[in-house]
Amino acid sequence: MAEGIRFVCSSCGNAIQAWSDGHPFYIDEAGNKKYAYHPHHSELAKCIANDSPHLCLQCGNAVKIDSRLASRICPDCNSEKVVSTFCLEGVKCPKCEDGHFVRDNEYYCIS
Ligand SMILES: [Zn+2]
Ligand SMILES: [Zn+2]
Repeated sequence: MAEGIRFVCSSCGNAIQAWSDGHPFYIDEAGNKKYAYHPHHSELAKCIANDSPHLCLQCGNAVKIDSRLASRICPDCNSEKVVSTFCLEGVKCPKCEDGHFVRDNEYYCIS
């Protein structure tokens, strides 16, 4: 069960959606990374790690960071200023560099 919430910038309205369980994946026989999607629970059982969604505060991109990596850096610009999309409350918006993210209480979904 995944829980979806949304954070919205108080200044420019930049909205970032966040899912509690990220993007779990497993490695197939050929060594390729495969994402497991609901409702494939047999695939979920094989998962070894998670590509966890982050927001880069340097370049402003929404990126995925492999949970197996020891250091969390943005794959696009190599910045260490990445924040889990689930923990954006009060974080300064990288798009307008003016507002900060507040949780949108109107928005909530379960998948
Ligand atoms: Zn903004
Ligand atoms: Zn970046």
